[in-house]
Amino acid sequence: MERVISTRTISQLTAIIDSVPTAIIMVDAQGHIDLANKQAERLFGYSAAELCGEIIDILVPYRFRAGHAGLRSGFTGNPSARPMGAGRDLFGLHKNGTEFPIEIGLNPITTEDGLFIVSSIVDISERKRLEARFRATVESAPTAMIMIDQAGSIVLVNTEVERLFGYDREELLKQKVEVLIPARFRVHHPGLRSQYFAAAAVRRMGVGRDLFGLRKDGTEFPIEIGLNPVQTDEGLFVLSAIVDISERKRQALELQRAEALERSNVELQRFAYVASHDLQTPMRSIANFIELLQTTYETKLDAQANDWIRRTHQSIKQLQTLTQDLLEYSRFDNQAHPFVRIELHEVLNHALSLLDASARELCAEITWDELPCVMGDHSQLVQLMLNLISNALKYQDNKSPRIHISAEKRATYWIIGVHDNGIGIAKKYQDKIFEIFQRLHEQKEYPGTGIGLAVCRRVVDHHGGKIWVESEQGKGSIFYFTIAAIKAITHEQCVN
Ligand code: ADP
Repeated sequence: MERVISTRTISQLTAIIDSVPTAIIMVDAQGHIDLANKQAERLFGYSAAELCGEIIDILVPYRFRAGHAGLRSGFTGNPSARPMGAGRDLFGLHKNGTEFPIEIGLNPITTEDGLFIVSSIVDISERKRLEARFRATVESAPTAMIMIDQAGSIVLVNTEVERLFGYDREELLKQKVEVLIPARFRVHHPGLRSQYFAAAAVRRMGVGRDLFGLRKDGTEFPIEIGLNPVQTDEGLFVLSAIVDISERKRQALELQRAEALERSNVELQRFAYVASHDLQTPMRSIANFIELLQTTYETKLDAQANDWIRRTHQSIKQLQTLTQDLLEYSRFDNQAHPFVRIELHEVLNHALSLLDASARELCAEITWDELPCVMGDHSQLVQLMLNLISNALKYQDNKSPRIHISAEKRATYWIIGVHDNGIGIAKKYQDKIFEIFQRLHEQKEYPGTGIGLAVCRRVVDHHGGKIWVESEQGKGSIFYFTIAAIKAITHEQCVN
């Protein structure tokens, strides 16, 4: 029996369709528009009366129209409810000629009058705009960012990712994210990924584990990863921010090494101090007994025994000098004083007074420029001058030593030079000699311990300067050191 639909029912149905917040357009199998609701009128700018009877293609931008008829007949040949144009960007054409991005759901309905297709059309301009803004934000981020879907496929990367991993973005998009992970971690990654998606939250990845990235060239680098779930209409994604921490790791390692070195230096210094300090007393008593032996039994012993005693005495003296120098060197930090204003002239006089006897014995001629006033540790600076001038007196070749102490002002510092006319130093040893125990001569040629210049370097370091030597073998040496200049300080201020 034919079912009669009342006019009341039709007007009710029309009201329902018009109240739906989505644009709805129904076309027949040939593509003629049969129905358009209020939202469709608003979306496309046509009235329902204008649309009805027209081919649906009038709502499709011109550039897609040619293919549209084919797509339409494809659908009517195999009708099923599904979204249209999966994977393609779809656009609607407004009456005023403007285009806008849309999403379309297709639903075939079969009636006595034949096949009809109901399309629900959603304007996705706003979503596209937000997506574009999101992409631009990710792109402009200073951090490498990768977005993946639940299957682990890369859907978005920024320039930083390209730079960090050495890939072009086209090479990465649609690839599994595991391509950026070293092989030994790959097996577990999909499992970890699923766990994350099951309880996605903003958090750091792999806390407590060392994470590594794999570059296209096969090299690895340490990374830190922040994970951010991004819920979209298309499902859940994860946006990861990746930071290359190679530099931080390197610095931490360097700091660790420096600390270890510092610790071993302190221990060594303590050891040197204890050893040299504790050796002083027994050594003094050995020296005393040897001297007693020498003076008391010299006439009673034969020449051989006396020679052995003399040599033992010499060696003990040498050992005493070595332990004293070592003690001096290891005591360096403990004996530092606060910096005060110091006349370098005074420092020089002090050092010369200690060297007076040997300078006189060698008929040395010692001259100097006008020397500045500086900030420093008096006893350390005396030690510095003493070591440099005593070397200048010692490393001579049967000549009378001629020594000059120069002072030259630079913008913020002074260069002090100790010039001698001694044996000079070959270029290749000029850095080495500032290291502890580095000597260039036999004891019998030039006695010494190889500690003096190491002490000089520590004094100069402690005063924030540099020390170096300019020399040529056989042509004398100049030992230079720098020391900070005091700004606008008068002689009177310095003296007071
Ligand atoms: P030491 O004099 O006890 O050997 P130093 O540390 O003072 O130890 O000097 C290290 C080495 O540098 C010396 O053994 C010597 O070979 C060289 N040297 C130092 N001063 C001079 C100088 N004025 N002229 C030539 N060689 C020098």
